[in-house]
Amino acid sequence: MSINGSRKVKVRLATTSLAGCFGCHMSFLDIDERLFELAELAEFDRSPLTDIKHCGPCDIALIEGGVCNTDNVHVVRELRANTKILVGVGACAINGGLPALRNRLKIDDILDRGYRDPVSGEPCIPNSPELPLALDKVYPVNEIVRVDYSLPGCPPSGDAIWKFLKDLILGRMPRLDYELLHYD
Ligand code: SF4
Repeated sequence: MSINGSRKVKVRLATTSLAGCFGCHMSFLDIDERLFELAELAEFDRSPLTDIKHCGPCDIALIEGGVCNTDNVHVVRELRANTKILVGVGACAINGGLPALRNRLKIDDILDRGYRDPVSGEPCIPNSPELPLALDKVYPVNEIVRVDYSLPGCPPSGDAIWKFLKDLILGRMPRLDYELLHYD
């Protein structure tokens, strides 16, 4: 089944986890035995579930988490460039969620407080070119790239994720009944 309506072509699906707790991905796995049905409809591209590191052309990309560092910016731009439909999943992707609590503080103060030599007490902030740079604050995904749909919740339930995803895969406008739609 394909998102464009032609049958027997599986939808290509990517997922990623940015600044969050991975709870939305755990909720995704809560679709349980329906994973077998999903496997009939879709194949995975980049995802923590496949360990594929870069996103190729795909139909649907689910983003969990806010954007907190330069690597996150690269990832969301790569997904946006490669997917037809981009979905922000969960409070962190939609409004920054819990990680955005740091937005009240200056990033320099956070790093200075968080990285101290345990013996001397002097600042020892990691400074390797391999490490992404922290942004001044945690941004919702839609402040970095265009987002097509948002699926609220912290996390959205497995039932909500499955209903939402299946609607998209089958080319329907996603609709959630009242009991599946929540913001906590
Ligand atoms: Fe975790 Fe909630 Fe953020 Fe999902 S929305 S990553 S469950 S804190």
